[in-house]
Amino acid sequence: MRPDPKTLSGQPVIIGGGVAGLMTALRLAPEPVVLVSKGPIGTEASSAWAQGGLAASLGADDDPALHLADTLAAGDGWCDAEIAARITRAAPLAIETLVQYGVNFDRSVDGTIRLGLEAAHSRRRIVHAAGDGTGRELMRALAKAVRNTPSITVLEGIEARRLLVENNAITGVLAADLSGGAPFKAVMLATRRVVLATGGIGGLFLDTTNPQGCFGQGLALAARAGADLADLEFIQFHPTALDGPARPMALISEAVRGEGAWLIDETGNRFLSDLPGAELGTRDAVARGVFRHLAAGHRVFLDARQHPGPGFADRFPGIAAACRAANLDPALEPIPVRPAAHYHMGGVAVDGAGRSSVEGLWACGEVARTGLHGANRLASNSLIEAVVCAGWVAESVAGTPSGTERQASPVPVLTPAPNPAVVRPILSRSLGVLRDADGLREAVSSLLPLASGRDDSADPAAVALMIAIAAWCRTESRGAHYREDFPQHSASPTQSRFGLADAVALARELAPSSVSLTKRAAS
Ligand SMILES: Cc1cc2nc3c(=O)[nH]c(=O)nc-3n(C[C@H](O)[C@H](O)[C@H](O)COP(=O)(O)OP(=O)(O)OC[C@H]3O[C@@H](n4cnc5c(N)ncnc54)[C@H](O)[C@@H]3O)c2cc1C
Repeated sequence: MRPDPKTLSGQPVIIGGGVAGLMTALRLAPEPVVLVSKGPIGTEASSAWAQGGLAASLGADDDPALHLADTLAAGDGWCDAEIAARITRAAPLAIETLVQYGVNFDRSVDGTIRLGLEAAHSRRRIVHAAGDGTGRELMRALAKAVRNTPSITVLEGIEARRLLVENNAITGVLAADLSGGAPFKAVMLATRRVVLATGGIGGLFLDTTNPQGCFGQGLALAARAGADLADLEFIQFHPTALDGPARPMALISEAVRGEGAWLIDETGNRFLSDLPGAELGTRDAVARGVFRHLAAGHRVFLDARQHPGPGFADRFPGIAAACRAANLDPALEPIPVRPAAHYHMGGVAVDGAGRSSVEGLWACGEVARTGLHGANRLASNSLIEAVVCAGWVAESVAGTPSGTERQASPVPVLTPAPNPAVVRPILSRSLGVLRDADGLREAVSSLLPLASGRDDSADPAAVALMIAIAAWCRTESRGAHYREDFPQHSASPTQSRFGLADAVALARELAPSSVSLTKRAAS
C-alpha cells in the first residue's frame, strides 16, 4: 500500500525513475528519500532503451585526458572544460560503482570488461552489457538495488505537475495520482529539496528515438518555478533511426558503424566517404549529411552485410529484433535509416553540484545542462554523466538542511495532463536538423499563444517556445545547432541562459502579431 504523503514530509523528492533518479536515490542512502515516477520504474525512460553503453577510459591505451579531448572536440567549443574534466576523470570509478550495484557488464574470457568503439571516440572505451542491452541491464540492477534499500520510498504512478515555490525557494511538489484513473487525485509532497531527473525532450518531435513520454516535463516544471534553462537550442539528431512507420523509431546504434557498417544510398553509393571520419564522424555532421541526401530525393541505408555481417544478431540482438519486427534481416539486406531527435544537450542550468537557480532545486541526467556535452554530445557520454553527477547531487542534497515543511492547504488545483501532440509538428518543421530565421519566427508565432494558454498543450509549448527563442538568438552554426542563414561559427558567441518570463518577452518582440492571440488564450 502507498504511504500517506504527509508521513513523507521533509524528505527530499526525486522526480523520475531513470538511471539519474535511481542513482541519486541510491547515493543518498541511508538518508530517507521519496522517488516519484510516472509509471512503474523504468517505463517511459530512455535509460532502459540505451544500446551502446557508457564511456569510460578503462583501456590500457586510454586515459581520462583522451576521453576529455574527444568530448571537447565533439562539443564544438561549447563544453565547460572543467566539468568535462571532472566527469571524465570520475568515469572509471563510476563503472566500478555500477558493478557493486550488481550491473553485469560484458566481459572478455579473461574477465576484463569488454570495450566497444563508437563514433568520434579515439579509443575503444564503450562499456556495454548484454550486447546492445546496456540500458535494460542497468535498469534491472539499479531498480533491484533501489527496491532493496529501505530508506527509499518509491511512489509509482505519480506525475509531478508543478513545483511549489515561495521567494525563489522550493516548498513542495504538486502531483497527480495516475493509479486510480481520471479524474486524477492531487497529491502534495511538502519538501524543501527536489531533484529533477525527468529525462529528455525527444517526444516533442514527430521523429524520435525517445519514449513518447519524454517530452520535457522536467523543463516545464523548472521553467514555471522560475529556474534558468541553458543551451536549449542544442538538440542531437541521431543519424540512423530505423526508417519505417513505427513511432518512436528504433535506434540503430553508432556501435554498428563502429563495427564497420557503411551508409549507402539506393544506388549503393557510399555518399559520406569524404566527410572527416566518414560514417564515424561527429553525430551532427553525419546527421546533416544523411538529412541533405534524403532531402535531395535519395533513400539512405545502413549496410551491415559485410561488417558486422553474419554475426550481427549475436553482437546486436536488440537491434536485430527491431529489424526483424520491420521484416528485415540486417545481415542480408541494408537497413533504411533517417535522422531523429535523440538527445538534449541543453536543460536546467546547474552548477557543479547540480544546483539550479532556484533554492532547493537540483537537476540530474538528461534534464540538466551541466556543460559536459557543449553543442554536441559525444556518444555514450550521457549515462556516465548521469551516474557520476548523481553522486555529486546526492552529496549536495544531503548537505542541505531539510527546513520546516508546511503542508499547503487546501491542496492547489491540478493543471491538465500535458499533451505535446499540437507542438510536435511545429518543432519538427522549424527546429529540426537544419534551421533558419523564417522557420524560427513561424514557430515562435505558433507557440507563444499555446504557451500562454491553460490547456494541455501549455507546458510542452512553453518548453518548445524556449527552445525556439534560444535557436533564434544563436545566430551561428555550432555542433548540433545548424542555421542555414548563419552557417559559420560566430566570433563572439554568447550563452543562451534565460527563464520563461524572458523567453515570453523576447517572443512578443519577435512575433508581435501573436500577442493579441496570447491575451485571448490566457484569459
Ligand atoms: C534509444 C536510445 C538509446 C540510447 N543509448 C545511449 C547509450 O548507449 N549511451 C548513453 O550514454 N546514452 C544513451 N542514450 C541517452 C540516455 O539513455 C539518456 O540520456 C539517459 O538514459 C537519460 O536518463 P535520465 O535518468 O535522465 O532520464 P530517463 O531515463 O528518460 O528517465 C526519466 C524518467 O522520468 C519520468 N518522468 C518524466 N516526467 C515526470 C513527471 N512529471 N513526474 C514523474 N515522472 C516523470 C519518465 O517517465 C522517466 O521514467 C540513449 C537514448 C535513447 C532514447
